[in-house]
Amino acid sequence: MKAKGSLLLVGSVGFWLFSSSLLAQDLGPQIRKIKDGIYVYVGKDFNSNCGIILTQEGVVLIDSGHNPTDSRAIAEAVKKLTPLPVRLLIDTEPHPDHTTGHFVFSPPATIIAHHGATESMLGRERETPGRIEKMAGVSPQMRSALEGYRFVPPHVEYRDRMTVNWGERTFELFYLKNVHSEADSAVWLPKERVLFSASGIVVDQINILRPFVTIPDILAASKMMKGLNPEHVIPGHGIPGTVKIFEDTETYYALLLERVGKLVKAGRSLDEIKKEVKMPEYDHWASKERFPTNVEAAYKAVKGN
Ligand SMILES: [Zn+2]
Repeated sequence: MKAKGSLLLVGSVGFWLFSSSLLAQDLGPQIRKIKDGIYVYVGKDFNSNCGIILTQEGVVLIDSGHNPTDSRAIAEAVKKLTPLPVRLLIDTEPHPDHTTGHFVFSPPATIIAHHGATESMLGRERETPGRIEKMAGVSPQMRSALEGYRFVPPHVEYRDRMTVNWGERTFELFYLKNVHSEADSAVWLPKERVLFSASGIVVDQINILRPFVTIPDILAASKMMKGLNPEHVIPGHGIPGTVKIFEDTETYYALLLERVGKLVKAGRSLDEIKKEVKMPEYDHWASKERFPTNVEAAYKAVKGN
């Protein structure tokens, strides 16, 4: 009896390995499995990431893909993973590279974001008339992915903190103040120890620091998220990893603040500092054209305003 039992066990493990490797292939190269029922569609070339989380009560998405072509690919992957629909979509930020694809999932998905997200989305629509038509002109694939496009703002806006119990899972939403957009959220799955850390902290890339973004706020968010002790960290953009993502960011800003601080002490103006300050250690990071926004934020932090 005993031998038969272990044989059965080997058989089922073999089947499980076989089926899961088939599945991974089926889902395409952009999908990574993080844990059972938790997947990430990793955007190409620093495009935004999308979390796909299966629950007994349907799928929860974290963001909706960089472009509508990504959103369509995500919808296809979801169909392969489960017969259940996407019921909930949590936005880590309101920018178009996370929210244009809302229409692909909603209805039936209910969309949750931090307070200020709708206003931010409406502002972008006003600032960039013809955005969707322009996007459709990029390629025939994009045009067809945009079929049926509607502007879909969040249904629910929370303030500061929110807990969502969905199926067997818990999602804790945290507002991240002044780190990237007007309404950034971290999404934390405490039981699974998986954290979606939004776009205030990116990987191997210089971030864009808008005038309201401050380095002390980024560092505070980093510390808070590290304190959750996550096993997996999925940034808004960049390859998923661990708390090392936060440590790399902290090291980068500490060095930047130190170098900008020295030049401020030496009496240099912001314009002079922008020309003089160098960070050769980060030559391999992408999006260097954003560096001047980092210097401006460091200058403000050093000056204490
Ligand atoms: Zn953004």
